Amino acid sequence: MKYKRVLLKLSGEFLAGPDGKGISPDATRALAEEIQKAKRTGVQLAVVVGAGNLWRGARQGVGMDRATADYIGMLATSMNALALQDALESLGLETRVQTALTMAEVAEPYIRRRALRHLEKGRVVIFGAGTGNPFFSTDTAAALRGLEMGVDVVLMAKNQVDGVYSDDPRKNPNAVKYDELTYMEVLSKGLQVMDATAVSLCMEGKLPIVVFDIFKPGALVGIIQGERIGTLIHS
Ligand code: UDP
Repeated sequence: MKYKRVLLKLSGEFLAGPDGKGISPDATRALAEEIQKAKRTGVQLAVVVGAGNLWRGARQGVGMDRATADYIGMLATSMNALALQDALESLGLETRVQTALTMAEVAEPYIRRRALRHLEKGRVVIFGAGTGNPFFSTDTAAALRGLEMGVDVVLMAKNQVDGVYSDDPRKNPNAVKYDELTYMEVLSKGLQVMDATAVSLCMEGKLPIVVFDIFKPGALVGIIQGERIGTLIHS
């Protein structure tokens, strides 16, 4: 096994049905099954989940106070975290949700050392409410929690795109896939991997990123076991 501890970043859309909105129990279960397969390798796995299926802070909150729109987004990620927890537990996995905004009745507050202990015990730890701060994204939360948890890699899950391309492969048939990139290349070429704050954090902490298609059978397990799948971003 190449990686012992990983952080998986999931977009909110993965929990949605075909219309890309809301929470679909079927879609959430399909996602949970991929995580179950990954857990069978023995890897320690933490998850950061987004909220694009429910709310897009900056885009949807036009005309609203930006910080308020972002807090709504963070609350939405916590809803996704609970849905994912439910799906994982129905498959028999042990999980904990920790949120960056306290909501003691539904989830643990984020406590770094406690999260580490959960991981050591084999529990899937799902981090909700992003970083707890407006003006940030769940990509940045993934980089931050990844560094705090001392993971070996951040796995940036995509849907129907199996890595980083020079252009959107769904629109441009001549787009070229990169097998490897440096953090600086991602930043200077403005590649749509994760936002620049998140890339910068990973660069500073020398935390590698793998961008891959989570719905490609065997991809997640393959990466954990050391196969060269997707695009690797490193120093
Ligand atoms: N958000 C925030 N601070 C954070 C993480 C998220 O304010 O640390 C808000 C922000 O408004 C964002 C929304 O939560 O738009 C949902 O997260 P994101 O768009 O990253 O979700 P994804 O695109 O991964 O589904």
